[in-house]
Amino acid sequence: MKLSRRTFLAGVVAASSATLLAPQKSIAAVSDQSYATLIDLTKCDGCLGQDVADCVRACRTANQHRFPEPNPAMLKPYWPQKSFEDWSQKRDVTNRLTPYNWTFVQHVTVEHAGVEHEIAIPRRCMHCDNPPCAKLCPFGIMKKHPEGMVDIDPDLCFGGAKCRTVCPWDVPQRQAGVGIYQMLDPLPAGGGVMFKCDLCKDTLAAGEQPACIPACTKQALTIGTRHEIMAQAEALANEYQGYLYGKEENGGTSTVYVSKVPFEKIDAALLAHSKQPESVMRLHQPDNMLITHEGKAKAVLLAPIIGAVGAFMATANKEKKAEEK
Ligand code: SF4
Ligand code: SF4
Ligand code: SF4
Repeated sequence: MKLSRRTFLAGVVAASSATLLAPQKSIAAVSDQSYATLIDLTKCDGCLGQDVADCVRACRTANQHRFPEPNPAMLKPYWPQKSFEDWSQKRDVTNRLTPYNWTFVQHVTVEHAGVEHEIAIPRRCMHCDNPPCAKLCPFGIMKKHPEGMVDIDPDLCFGGAKCRTVCPWDVPQRQAGVGIYQMLDPLPAGGGVMFKCDLCKDTLAAGEQPACIPACTKQALTIGTRHEIMAQAEALANEYQGYLYGKEENGGTSTVYVSKVPFEKIDAALLAHSKQPESVMRLHQPDNMLITHEGKAKAVLLAPIIGAVGAFMATANKEKKAEEK
C-alpha cells in the first residue's frame, strides 16, 4: 500500500470522529469446528543433537517472506520510549520468540516420581479462546478468527505492544522501523509492528497443515478440529496418567500440551534454571488478564489515534480507487 505521509496527515486532520476501528470486545464463541493444536511433550525430544529443531526451521522457512524489513532511519528511540526493539541484526536467534522467530523450543530437566525427565517444550502463540491481546488491542487490529487463530494485521499495527503486556506468555514481539507509526512521526504512537505465529493462516485456508506440524518426524504436533484435539488430549493425558495444559489456562487456549510430568513442576524448573526468571516463558496458571487490564484499557484515550488509523484506511482506499481509474 503506497501512501505519502502528507496525504496520510491530511486524512488524519479530516478525521473528526473516530469510530471506524475499535478494540475487539465481542468475539464469536470458539466453535467446535475451529482448529486447535496438540503438543505432546512425551513425544518431543527437542530434535536432540540438531542446532535448530525441525519445527522451528520449517516455520522460519515458510514465513520468511513475511518477516519485517525495517527502515534504518527509524531505528531509534521513539518518544516517550527510551529504547527501541530491533531484531533485524539478530535474525538467526532461534532460542526465543522474536519478530523473525515465531516458535522455539525450551529445554529443562525436571525430577518427578524419583526420575529425572529431560523435557523439550515447543513454544509459540497459544491462540487463546478468549484472547486478551485481541480484546485489549487499543487499535482493534488483532483478531480471533472463527477458525481458531489469533492474528495481527501488520499493515495496521502501530506496535504499541499492549498485546504483549496483556499476554500471559509475552508472545507478540516488536520490530521497530516498520509499520504505519512512521507516518505519524514525531507523534508518540507505537514504535513498530508486533509479530507472532498466526497458525499459518493462509496455508490452513489453502487446505494444508501449518508448516511446523508435518516437519515434526516424532509426531509430537497434531492439528485438528478443536473438538477432536481436546478429546485426543484428554485421552492421552488419561493414558499417560499425565497432565493437560491449555484447557482452562487464560480462559482456555487452542494450543494444548500433554505431559507425564505436572506442569507446575515444569514451570518451577523453568524458573529455577533460568538466569533471568523474570523473562522466562512460563507454563503457569496466569491471572485472568482481561479482568486485570480491562479497566486500565478503558481509561486510555486512544480515539485520536484510532481516528488516524480510520482516516489512513479511508484515504488509502480513495487513492487506490483513483489509481485503478
Ligand atoms: S516438536 Fe518435533 S520437530 Fe519440534 S522440537 Fe519437538 S521433536 Fe523436534
Ligand atoms: S498466547 Fe498471548 S498472543 Fe497468543 S492469543 Fe493468547 S494472549 Fe494473544
Ligand atoms: S503454525 Fe505456522 S506460524 Fe505458527 S509456529 Fe507453526 S509454522 Fe510457525
